[in-house]
Amino acid sequence: SLSDRLTAALANLRTKGVLTASDVDGTVREIRRALLDADVNLDVVKAFTARVRERALGAEVNKALNPAQQVVQIVNEELIGILGGETRRLEFAKQPPTVIMLAGLQGAGKTTLAGKLAMWLEKEGHTPLLVACDLQRPNAVQQLQVVGEQAGATVFAPEPGNGVGNPVRVAKDAIRFARDKQHDVVVIDTAGRLGVDADLMKQAADIRRATDPDEVLFVIDAMIGQDAVATAKAFQDGVDFTGVVLTKLDGDARGGAALSVASVTGRPIVFASTGEKLTEFEPFHPDRMASRILDLGDILSLIEQAQQAFDEREALEMAEKIAEGEFTLDDFLKQMQQLRDKGGLMKMIGMLPGARQMREQLDQFDEREIVRTEAIIQSMTPQERRQPKILNGSRRLRIARGSGMTVTDVNQLVQRFEQAAKMMKTVARGGVPQIPGMGPV
Ligand code: GDP
Ligand code: MG
Repeated sequence: SLSDRLTAALANLRTKGVLTASDVDGTVREIRRALLDADVNLDVVKAFTARVRERALGAEVNKALNPAQQVVQIVNEELIGILGGETRRLEFAKQPPTVIMLAGLQGAGKTTLAGKLAMWLEKEGHTPLLVACDLQRPNAVQQLQVVGEQAGATVFAPEPGNGVGNPVRVAKDAIRFARDKQHDVVVIDTAGRLGVDADLMKQAADIRRATDPDEVLFVIDAMIGQDAVATAKAFQDGVDFTGVVLTKLDGDARGGAALSVASVTGRPIVFASTGEKLTEFEPFHPDRMASRILDLGDILSLIEQAQQAFDEREALEMAEKIAEGEFTLDDFLKQMQQLRDKGGLMKMIGMLPGARQMREQLDQFDEREIVRTEAIIQSMTPQERRQPKILNGSRRLRIARGSGMTVTDVNQLVQRFEQAAKMMKTVARGGVPQIPGMGPV
C-alpha cells in the first residue's frame, strides 16, 4: 500500500546521521514510485516530489538535529498542504435555509451521505431536510426515506403524479417547504450514472442553477483510483463544486485519490466517510489523513523522537544558563513561550529542584501575559535584552511606544524579570523557585 511504501522509503533514512544529496534523491525517487503506484495523478506527484526534494536539500535539514527525521517532517507537512492544510468547515447561509447539494457518480455514496449529514447536522443543533432529487433509479426515493428515518430527519419527496421526473421542480418545492417548516438546512440528493455523461451533468447543473446552493459537495469513492481525477474534472466543468467528500475510506484505498482530487481541483475535502453506518463519518482533517498515508504507528513516532530530543536539548541549555547566572530577557521570553507548550516546560521544570510548586502555578497562568511580554521584549534591541540595566527612562518610553504598551507595563515587566533572575539564581543554588513572569506570587 501507499502507506507501507512511503514508510519503507523514509525508514531507510533512519540510520543516517548526515544526509547526502544522493540519499535525498534516492528517497524522493522511492516516494515518487510509491505515490504513482497508489494512483496519485502524475502532475500531482511531480509537483509534490519537487517540493520535498528542494526542501530536503535545503538549510532547514542540514541544520537539523536529526536530518532524516526532518525529511519525514517535510513529507508530512507537504502532504498536509496538498490535502488543503486547515480543516475546512461547512459554509452556512446568513439567511436560512442553507442549501447543500450532493453530486457524483452512481454508487459514490451520495444517498448514504445525505443520511450521515442529517445525523451530524442534527447533533450540531440544525434541523435538516433531506430532498429526494434522484428520480432516475427506481428505489432511490425509498432509499433516501429509509436513510432519513434512521437519521430521524424529514425527507421531502415528490408526491406521486406531481413533479415526478422533474428534479429541478422537486428541489425548488423543497426549499419553499423548508422555509415554511423552519428547516434551516436543505440537503439535496441527486441522481448519478455509472459513468460521466452529458445528461447527468446537465441535470445536476440545472438543479444547481435553480437552487443556488451554499455548498455543492462532490462525492467520490476513494477506491476508484486513477479515474478519480478525470471524474472530478468532469464534475468541476459540468456542475462545479465547492467541496469534496471522500467516501469508502474504510476500504483499501489509502489516500491516492484524496491527494489527486484535492490537488487537481483546488477544492478542499470537507468530509470523510468511513463505512456504511450513518455514524461512520467525520469532518476531514488534512493532518490526520497525512498521518494515515504516512502510517502513524511508525513514522510519526520517529518525528516525535526527534522533537523530544530537540526539546530536551533546549531545556538543558536553559538549565545551564541559569546555573551560570547568565539569564537574559531573551531567555525570560523563551521561558514564557515555552509555557504555552506546557509539555516543554514540564520537562524543563522536571530538571529543577522544587518542581511541584512550579507545576501548581502553571495552572494559574494567563495566556495574555505571554502576548504582552512578547510585544514588549520584541521591541527591545538585542543589547537591551542582554543587559536590562541600560533600560533608562527614554529607552523605556521608546519600547512602550514600539510595543503599544504603557511605560508602567514596561516597568512591571523589567521588575518581574529581575525577580525571575534572582529566583533563577536561587534555583541554581538548590532553593525553592517560583515561576518567572507569573505576576505576584
Ligand atoms: P449513491 O448512488 O451515490 O447514492 O450511493 P449510495 O449512498 O447508494 O451508496 C452506494 C453503496 O456504497 C451502498 O451500498 C452504501 O452502503 C455504500 N457506502 C456508502 N458510503 C460508504 C462508505 O463510506 N464505506 C463503505 N464501505 N460503503 C459505503
Ligand atoms: Mg443515491
